[in-house]
Amino acid sequence: MSAIDEVKQRTDIVEVVSQYTTLTKAGRTFRGLCPFHTEKHPSFFVYPEQQSWHCFGACNTGGDVFSFVMKNQGTDFGDALRFLAQRAGITLSPRAGQDAESDKRERLYLVNEAAARYFHNLLLNSAGGEKARNYVASRGFSPKTTVDFQLGFSLNSWQALKQHLMDRGYTESELLTAGLIIEAETGKTHDRFRNKLMFPISDVRGHIIGFGARVLDDSLPKYINSPQTPTFDKSSSLYGINLAMTAIRQQDMAVIVEGYIDVMTAHQSDFNNVVASMGTAVTEKQAGTLKKLTRNIVLALDADAAGEEAMLRGVGYENSLDAEVKVIILPKGKDPDEVIRQDAKTWQQLLAEALPIVDYTFNMVTAKLDLTTARDKSLARDRLVPIIAGIKDTVRQDHYLTKLSRLTGTSYRRLETDLARIKADRRAKETRREAEAQSTHPPSSSPIEEYCLALLLQHPELRVQSEGLLLEYFENR
Ligand SMILES: [Zn+2]
Repeated sequence: MSAIDEVKQRTDIVEVVSQYTTLTKAGRTFRGLCPFHTEKHPSFFVYPEQQSWHCFGACNTGGDVFSFVMKNQGTDFGDALRFLAQRAGITLSPRAGQDAESDKRERLYLVNEAAARYFHNLLLNSAGGEKARNYVASRGFSPKTTVDFQLGFSLNSWQALKQHLMDRGYTESELLTAGLIIEAETGKTHDRFRNKLMFPISDVRGHIIGFGARVLDDSLPKYINSPQTPTFDKSSSLYGINLAMTAIRQQDMAVIVEGYIDVMTAHQSDFNNVVASMGTAVTEKQAGTLKKLTRNIVLALDADAAGEEAMLRGVGYENSLDAEVKVIILPKGKDPDEVIRQDAKTWQQLLAEALPIVDYTFNMVTAKLDLTTARDKSLARDRLVPIIAGIKDTVRQDHYLTKLSRLTGTSYRRLETDLARIKADRRAKETRREAEAQSTHPPSSSPIEEYCLALLLQHPELRVQSEGLLLEYFENR
């Protein structure tokens, strides 16, 4: 029996689908709200006898359990197969449905998992891990949270992890590729993470792809993480996504915070739709991952860093997401971890009051202006019309133009003209850029040049006569 058949036989599609939407039995079929599009009335059907599914709503598509997992997780067949095999407790032969490239990735996932287990065990049990245990306790994390996030500790040693993993059959080169060890100038290698609290970072499928690490004293930098590896790209990873995925889909909303600790505290308080961007600015790749789960994204910004740049980027996300991005502004000097620990209700309150990013920008800009004066009306126009011009959705664009018209008492027509001018300027700039890009790549050859050169190559004896050729025939003269 093939691995695929074995996985199929040991998997019940109803059980798999039930993890992502609530199914109700109706005769021989099950129905529920489609996990892939937003709907009020269930048009998603699962057929246990055929082990298949179909959405009769907006998706108007269906398939088997593999296609469900592929669509649900945005993965290819190989990943769906591995996901379901793992779920069913089937060990796939290393070759099952894979090529050399995915074999290598698989090895990296395995080596990261082995490292995470090692770090986790050290945190829980080692004598050297006491300081880390105290730190975890001081942050108020429960044993369950520690286990859920597989929190770990790396020994204050240059060779401990390397030795541990090499004893288990991983090669030095695999450890280097995974970014777990570093090659010094002498050519010798040593552990990258030493004496740190370890945060394994997973992808949506739950593979460990890299690590974040925090120092246990006041030294700097406070945080380091895995370098770019074949499995880890910081700009496309979201900390906690593996644990948040289901909640994000169920609540149809994702909240993005900045730090590892913020995510853990949120989840411990049952705010399970929270992930971290692991940097100040959310990237389009991260937004792309979330887009598969929800179109409602809330950014938690701290009062100081909520600069205009972040807001301008926000419109960019909205366009790439086709969605409205909302922001919550944290109380001054506080991060989500502190807010939630102090009072979970404050967090709920903030979420309830989240503002669409463009409205927030309006508030920021107009707060410093006196809109009864001509000068400040003009300033508001100068700052806000370019932002409105960046909104792709025409209905929303219109909404904000109307809002600005009302706020400044300027006629809608007047603002519309300004908006049109900005758009025309941008288009002209775009055209110029394209033209410049084109002109730096001239056509590689002209027919005359080609003909003459071909002739000379085929008939070297003609070289003496080539002096009569005009210089203009040649591009690179
Ligand atoms: Zn659907």
